[in-house]
Amino acid sequence: MNKLKGYKMEWAFSFVRWFLLGICVVLFCIEPVQAFFHLERDSVSALFIISLCYILITQYSLWKMITEGSHTAKQILQIGVCFDFLVAMWLLIVTGGVNSPLAPMTYLVIMHAAFYWNIKGAIISTGSVIAGFIIIFLLKGQPASESMLFYFFLHIGLTAIVGLFGGLIVARERKHFYEKATARKQVRIDYLTGLYNRRCFHESLRRIVRETKSCILVMADVDHFKLINDQYGHVMGDLVLKEIGKILAECVRKEKGRAFRYGGEEFAFLFPNANHPCIKRVIEKIYKELAGQTFRDNTLKVTMSFGVARWQTGEREHEWLERADSLLYKAKNQGRNRAVFDDQSIFVNPVTKRIENYNIQTKITI
Ligand code: GH3
Ligand code: MG
Ligand code: MG
Repeated sequence: MNKLKGYKMEWAFSFVRWFLLGICVVLFCIEPVQAFFHLERDSVSALFIISLCYILITQYSLWKMITEGSHTAKQILQIGVCFDFLVAMWLLIVTGGVNSPLAPMTYLVIMHAAFYWNIKGAIISTGSVIAGFIIIFLLKGQPASESMLFYFFLHIGLTAIVGLFGGLIVARERKHFYEKATARKQVRIDYLTGLYNRRCFHESLRRIVRETKSCILVMADVDHFKLINDQYGHVMGDLVLKEIGKILAECVRKEKGRAFRYGGEEFAFLFPNANHPCIKRVIEKIYKELAGQTFRDNTLKVTMSFGVARWQTGEREHEWLERADSLLYKAKNQGRNRAVFDDQSIFVNPVTKRIENYNIQTKITI
């Protein structure tokens, strides 16, 4: 349901399309309405069939965009604005041209365009609608009666005022919405690595303790990172942290955890409802990914140490954090490149262990 929240406007436009299709059906079925508008049955039938296909496609695209975040579906919905415009013009033509009582629906087309393309969309769509009115007037309004001239200028004037101002308001609201969403994201995201930041980490920790949830905390630290800075420079150091951030995000996400940058070259992960084998799997994957990563033409290899602590009932945030931190420093003191768990088990990086064993064996053979 949360996913649907961000698409309120699209749902509203979708509803309007079905509503207009309903009007089309009414026009088609009711004799007096047909007589009033001088409707041509063939034209209304064609409009009905094309609109139905178009509405079904947009409805399907909207569903795809909400459930899968499909980019193609989003593009189809954007192109849909042009189709909305064409259908609106067609509907005007079959319902009396510039005299049509349905003329105000063109404001919706302008607002829809503003929704996607902001002020540019509002201006272009207002211009297109006015051009549409002029063409319809020239095609259908000759010789022009006084009432036709009156409606022609009225619609053009109202489109310019209501459409443009409405469109600009939608565009402004949209801009504010994006700015707010971006600011909210920036407060929670670390600039360098793209992981959640320390503020977000403490908030999550507090929430878990308050809700007394089962959760495992992993504190992680890059081994000998200072040497990387000293040997290759801080710019390279930043690049390494960025790449590590990507690896951590991917590996942790797979086991339904959250990765945070605690500060400097220190990271933290939270895994609700996880167990030790699951954490071992994540750490093994991180070691494999780090070994496979080519930082600076393969001349630079990075390893990490971990401290793993499950939250104990009644434990306060800082106590839990201190326990995980002391396990991390145990891993450091025992030679780095390993994880120390709160049941005192140790998981040494299996990738480098294999290389060490290989080196020892080849030395013995030689
Ligand atoms: P250990 O294995 O004991 O963790 O050794 P270490 O060298 O990784 O640890 P130490 O705490 O001595 O050094 C951490 C270094 O990380 C020092 C600091 O300059 C560097 N650092 C912290 N934040 C950043 C950053 O954002 N970018 C870069 N390039 N370096 C950073
Ligand atoms: Mg370090
Ligand atoms: Mg450190």
